[in-house]
Amino acid sequence: MTTAELAGQRSRGAELLAAARTVIPGGVNSATRLVGAPHALTAASGAHVTDADGRRYLDYHAAFGAILLGHAAPEVDDAVRAAVGGLDLVGWGVTETEIELARLVVETIPSAEQMISAMSGSEATAQAIRLSRAVTGRPLIVKFQGGFHGWHDAVARNVISAPERAYGDDPLSRGILPEALDSTLIAEFNDLESVRALYERHPGLIAAVIVEPIPHNVGALVPEREFVEGLRALTAERGSLLIFDEVITGFRHAPGGYQEVCGVLPDLTTFGKAMGNGYPIAGLAGPRRLMEHFSSAGGDVLLAGTFNGNPVSSAAAIATITYLRDHPDFYERTHALGDRMRAGLTGICEELGVAGTAAGFGGVFALYFTEAPVRGYRDLMRNNDAAYVAFHRRMTDRGFLMLPLALKRNHISAAHTAEDIDRTLDAARDVLRSIRD
Ligand code: PLP
Repeated sequence: MTTAELAGQRSRGAELLAAARTVIPGGVNSATRLVGAPHALTAASGAHVTDADGRRYLDYHAAFGAILLGHAAPEVDDAVRAAVGGLDLVGWGVTETEIELARLVVETIPSAEQMISAMSGSEATAQAIRLSRAVTGRPLIVKFQGGFHGWHDAVARNVISAPERAYGDDPLSRGILPEALDSTLIAEFNDLESVRALYERHPGLIAAVIVEPIPHNVGALVPEREFVEGLRALTAERGSLLIFDEVITGFRHAPGGYQEVCGVLPDLTTFGKAMGNGYPIAGLAGPRRLMEHFSSAGGDVLLAGTFNGNPVSSAAAIATITYLRDHPDFYERTHALGDRMRAGLTGICEELGVAGTAAGFGGVFALYFTEAPVRGYRDLMRNNDAAYVAFHRRMTDRGFLMLPLALKRNHISAAHTAEDIDRTLDAARDVLRSIRD
């Protein structure tokens, strides 16, 4: 059933969505889930999700990238089943599971000597920012236009902005104190001078630069070497911390995240999403000299959270990271499938004369409706968002689930196959032709 048919008829999915709207604001639990004619989903397995009307979709959305090994990956679900019924939640001391997870993370992420556990990426970035302010005694942070680091006040601005608001005043929400918004400065990705200019304008006041090493929240801007190395040198020279927000890139592009790929080590790293293959868990890692500022080690930065280190999420994360560590071929496979998808999509755009280009890294791909090259956010302002929305809708109707927002990315998991990619490309060719015509 197409989305148009669904909208016009009282299907089980439409009933569920209507029921949801009566008890959940807007009917969904996170606003972006509402974009692009949402469906009520009832099952997920491997690379597929199924909706309430029995339609199966090949899933590249992957819960915003939280699903890395495929839905209901047996390795992860078995570990979770084993955890349930064992030691449940405790609020005193530590458990073996937490120690095992922290050890694995410290062994895996190059810049990590210690880690704290959190329940979401937003919590991890909030902790990273507070820690960097405490350590430096400075108030300001720098983020990039297009970067997303969660929903909390310090970072809730300037993700995908209308052209007139880009680089300016663009909060994601009302209800945030102006002081909180003003404490976050906005720079341009892949443009070191834009960061240097902020340091000149605010000398001695910048606590940290927080960056998605590949800004996947606007698809995939791949960092130029001089830019990442320059960020490392500049933040160190100015006495600020460099925070890599690896909530998407972490564990996905390499076991040790993008820092392992590029060889540039941040002071602090946040990670989440794929780490637990769908179970809620995130973390913050860094060197002992910084992490021991947390109150758990006698420092003065509050560390609290009832569910931090809970056994179910921790077991899921241990199983996921262990799988990745023991299956280096996972990276070869997903990178090769990503290359196949990107080459295919770009080739189809060329063949059809559509102004489009596929970007990405590893198993992540994005389709921009603009000509290459795309270096920074400024280039993305030329994107034909309406064409992407049409592409998304028609691909969904054909059973291919992608992120509905223009400029977002899609994810290839361990469960996708070369045949899946080829089927997707065949459908994309038809859809792109229909958009062009
Ligand atoms: N950082 C990045 C790079 C993200 O993409 C996200 C979520 O999309 C977050 C942080 C926030 O994570 P969460 O949604 O788990 O709070």
